[in-house]
Amino acid sequence: MNTILNNLPKEAKDKHIENKKYFDKLKKKTPKNLDYVMQDLHDAEFKKTDCLKCANCCKTTGPLFTDADIERVSKYLRQKPQQFIEQYLQIDEDRDYVLQSVPCTFLDNENACMIYDVRPKACREFPHTDRKKFQQITDLTLKNVAICPAAFNIVEEMKKKLPL
Ligand code: SF4
Ligand code: SF4
Repeated sequence: MNTILNNLPKEAKDKHIENKKYFDKLKKKTPKNLDYVMQDLHDAEFKKTDCLKCANCCKTTGPLFTDADIERVSKYLRQKPQQFIEQYLQIDEDRDYVLQSVPCTFLDNENACMIYDVRPKACREFPHTDRKKFQQITDLTLKNVAICPAAFNIVEEMKKKLPL
């Protein structure tokens, strides 16, 4: 997995123009069965992906925390929301709450999430490859393929399954 992660930024950079062109076409000419195809590709990839061997999302980019996330996680940690915010979060340029630092404070030495059951929605949904109307998040996906080997593979398979 380390070799895959080390090579991923370069591989994603090499595919960037091709992916961007593909996604531009996808937005203009969205296949009717896109949601179904994405769900299948996502499920097949995550059947063979062991996130515990990777955790690159938790190590290199943190989630944003919604108000509901802050309520839920702080309750789990037996803290007041404000205490939790002061200890772990900061506000980014989009005025969202994000982690003060990465790797995420809640990632343990075995790559497991210490707040897994109550983790932020953004963590549960990453890398968003099974999201409905996937054509709406292609800009985000262009970035995610450089972080997440599963997202990279899903996009490669997608181009084969749905040539445009
Ligand atoms: S979601 Fe992607 S980046 Fe995160 S641990 Fe799984 S494979 Fe790695
Ligand atoms: S909260 Fe958990 S799943 Fe989310 S980035 Fe931190 S360790 Fe990863």
